[in-house]
Amino acid sequence: MRLFPYNLQDASRIGACLEQFAQECPPEYESILCLIFSADDKTEHIETMTQAIHARLPAARIAGCTSSGEIVNGELRLDSIQVSFLVFARASVAVHLFDCGQLTMDEAAEMLPELLEGEPLAGVGILTTLKTLGDIHVFTDVLSGLPEEVPVFGGSSDSYINKSSYVNDEYTCVFDGTSYTNQGILVILFRGQDLHIRVKSYNGWKPLGAEAVITGMDCCNVVTQVNHKPVVSLYEKYLGIAPGEKFFRAILPFPVMIERDEQPVARMAISYQANGSMRFGGDFSLGEHVRLGYGDPINMLQEGFCNIEGLRNFQPEGILLFSCIVRRMYLRDDVRIELQPFRDIAPSAGFYTYGELQRFDGHSQVHLLNGSLVTICFREGQPAAAPAAIPSPQKLSFHDERISLITGLAHFVSVTSAELEQANQALTLLADTDRLTGLLNRGAVEQILMNEIERSDTSSDLHLGAIMVDLDHFKHINDTFGHEAGDEVLRQVAKIMQNALRSSDFVGRWGGEEFMLVLPGCHIDDAIMVAERIRQRIEADTRLPDGRHVTASLGVTVAGSSDTLDGLYGRLDEELYKAKHRGRNCVSAAR
Ligand code: GH3
Ligand code: MG
Ligand code: MG
Repeated sequence: MRLFPYNLQDASRIGACLEQFAQECPPEYESILCLIFSADDKTEHIETMTQAIHARLPAARIAGCTSSGEIVNGELRLDSIQVSFLVFARASVAVHLFDCGQLTMDEAAEMLPELLEGEPLAGVGILTTLKTLGDIHVFTDVLSGLPEEVPVFGGSSDSYINKSSYVNDEYTCVFDGTSYTNQGILVILFRGQDLHIRVKSYNGWKPLGAEAVITGMDCCNVVTQVNHKPVVSLYEKYLGIAPGEKFFRAILPFPVMIERDEQPVARMAISYQANGSMRFGGDFSLGEHVRLGYGDPINMLQEGFCNIEGLRNFQPEGILLFSCIVRRMYLRDDVRIELQPFRDIAPSAGFYTYGELQRFDGHSQVHLLNGSLVTICFREGQPAAAPAAIPSPQKLSFHDERISLITGLAHFVSVTSAELEQANQALTLLADTDRLTGLLNRGAVEQILMNEIERSDTSSDLHLGAIMVDLDHFKHINDTFGHEAGDEVLRQVAKIMQNALRSSDFVGRWGGEEFMLVLPGCHIDDAIMVAERIRQRIEADTRLPDGRHVTASLGVTVAGSSDTLDGLYGRLDEELYKAKHRGRNCVSAAR
């Protein structure tokens, strides 16, 4: 294949562009895909171009969208029109536009499987409008069903208009040779046995600081709460950035980071509401773990440079680049450094997007990405025997020396928050544990009882079982054999009880020689059985220095959701008293 990229100042230059292409185009080919990425969103200007292309190249397939930056041969252009011809010697290309002004997303998705049938696909490309991006999963879920080896890539059209608010979705469009819509999805199907398409992306954003959980959502890309607090408060708390006029500019370097197929994926904030909820450029799910991320320009560019080698080894004949507008807004002039390496590898063309689409190698799900650069390499046939010579990596040079400070501070935050997390875990363990026996302490058991009572279901005939265990004549044991021997008995009994319980049960030391067992989801008969089993094991398995055994008395009850802790304790005390009164070494239960 060959890729011929032309950059036009405006639509009126299409004639000259076609003229030049006619001279450069190989005489024989199977198919031509004409890709247009246009800063100009005027329908009549787009039509001027598509009609001219049709007239000159009737068999060429046309696919295009509006953009917020154009890329030609590894260089950024602004306010221009990028017209590229992908000429395939043997592969074929088909383009389908789904106008979602006419069709619902579900209807469009239902039509997709039929198009995907037939000769095996070498790859699928998607261009979507901003209006359809929120529901794009309906469509991409169908593509996720394709065999894993079929690469899927894509980008959302963007626009130069209203970049400060991000919210105006009227001006982003997709078009083929005949139709033009601001609410639609365009699918490009590549077929050909020796067409190889390699899709890779990188973003360079790094997770930072403590993990949080999404606890409230309005829809898949509107988050209301994180850790049960309004999501904007995350930015206020950790970054000191409050909602206001310059909010989005200020939080630009700090996307929310999630994981998809074990890959770090960034989510860029788009807008916020008075209630503290925020809309993002991609989906989340309830209960998902998130962290704030940050972008260190050096890391971002360095990651790109690291990926170049693999790309070069593929020996592409043409490269498409779909890059997030946030990269351009954040990296500013340095974005040119990021694009530069593509110059010497193969002809390239691309655009700045509102969102990127990709399925990761070895995975089936097609994901919506934010803030990333997707590289799509094309090659027909096998690579040349000798791989291209690799020039020594370029040294990155920056005008801003504060960048190393960012890396240092970010490292500092990551390490200190990891240390704090560890220390917190150790503290929690310490605070909940009884030193002598290693069991839960009374405070921890009370907390569990409280939670379990709240959780227990009145409609179910399963209840919360509770057993109080009190060792018999323990004072006598201490007096006869010494306090140390008494301690050893407490440790033995703790072990016996731990071994006798299910993994969902809890056992704690209530105080002195008293223990409490908590058995979620059981009948009173089960609780009595457990109590009896424990009584027998204590008697059988404990040994005093004189060879005698220790015994225990047990009180048993169950609790429902209307119960109170005091009510529960009262019944347990009463049953324990009865067991002692009956002569000890027995179980008494409140039915
Ligand atoms: P009963 O059969 O009626 O329960 O008699 P008892 O002797 O077990 O009951 P009592 O409440 O009179 O005595 C409990 C004893 O447990 C008194 C106390 O010294 C002892 N004890 C409390 N905590 C510990 C401890 O951590 N280690 C040891 N070795 N003994 C303890
Ligand atoms: Mg006691
Ligand atoms: Mg006792």
